[in-house]
Amino acid sequence: MAATELVHLTHEGNFQLDTEAKVVSCRVVRIEETREIEGGNTPPSDDDDDDVATLSVEIILDVTTMHPRGGGQPSDVGTISILGHAHHLLASISDVIIDKSTGVVVHRGIISIPRKDVPSFALVNDDEDSPSSSFVLPGSTVVVRVNEERRRLNSECHTAGHVVDAAMSRIDDGCFVPVKGYHFMDGPYVEYCSGAVGGGIDAKERDAFLVRLKEAFQELIDDDVPTVIRTLPAEEAKSLCGDRLARNFDASDRADAPVRVVTVAGWHSPCGGTHVRSTGELKGRGWSVRGLRCKKGAVRVRYGPAEES
Ligand SMILES: [Zn+2]
Repeated sequence: MAATELVHLTHEGNFQLDTEAKVVSCRVVRIEETREIEGGNTPPSDDDDDDVATLSVEIILDVTTMHPRGGGQPSDVGTISILGHAHHLLASISDVIIDKSTGVVVHRGIISIPRKDVPSFALVNDDEDSPSSSFVLPGSTVVVRVNEERRRLNSECHTAGHVVDAAMSRIDDGCFVPVKGYHFMDGPYVEYCSGAVGGGIDAKERDAFLVRLKEAFQELIDDDVPTVIRTLPAEEAKSLCGDRLARNFDASDRADAPVRVVTVAGWHSPCGGTHVRSTGELKGRGWSVRGLRCKKGAVRVRYGPAEES
């Protein structure tokens, strides 16, 4: 199976939410039947026409605008509208995963349809090992639509993580090397190992370090630096990103492959995520560095949006 084309990898594609695509496969994983009660207070009727079936589906497309979970960033959510089907089918997508070895992206979600319209083959074919692929035929045209609000939030959170990197590099002369990023809204952070110097930050200097880091972060946001996303030949990427290239990617089996390099606040990183157009866009929600934690030579920098009052 061919790798799924990921629209978000190009600079403009990073900001594109919708695309038309073709179905490679649509597998009904499970069928759950629920009874729809209009208005909430109406007693359940005996009329089967009101029953709704919820199909859990896994959809593979030739191309997608959805960012699959990975690189410390959550997946997009959104919808896949299946055109030209006898029923109007709208899949609500809650998770997107990529098989790194094949590059194939699977969209997981649900399709709700009237119980009476469930094709009989889907009902009898409710078996993990026997995909009911004829439910939606391969080659069918669909429209993929990324949930804009969620994309925006994920992109801000992820971009702010890069700004933390840029701020760290400004104040520590490159002593700290980013080793882990967690760009989820429930408590994002970037973790650094202290490389050559060892020992993290001296306890007496932590407060002053944090103040300087917060200032550097804020300056980079005030400077409203545009984000640049490029796919570069391996050698060029290496000269821009240095060690970070080997750290972020398993380069063993694709040493010569082009690399997507994302430049945020002037700081180059190999990265597969989604980003906002410039650091100034992080002002709105009041993103900032929140705190430091030093443990066994590693430094974890917590960051986040301003807390809502
Ligand atoms: Zn990134």
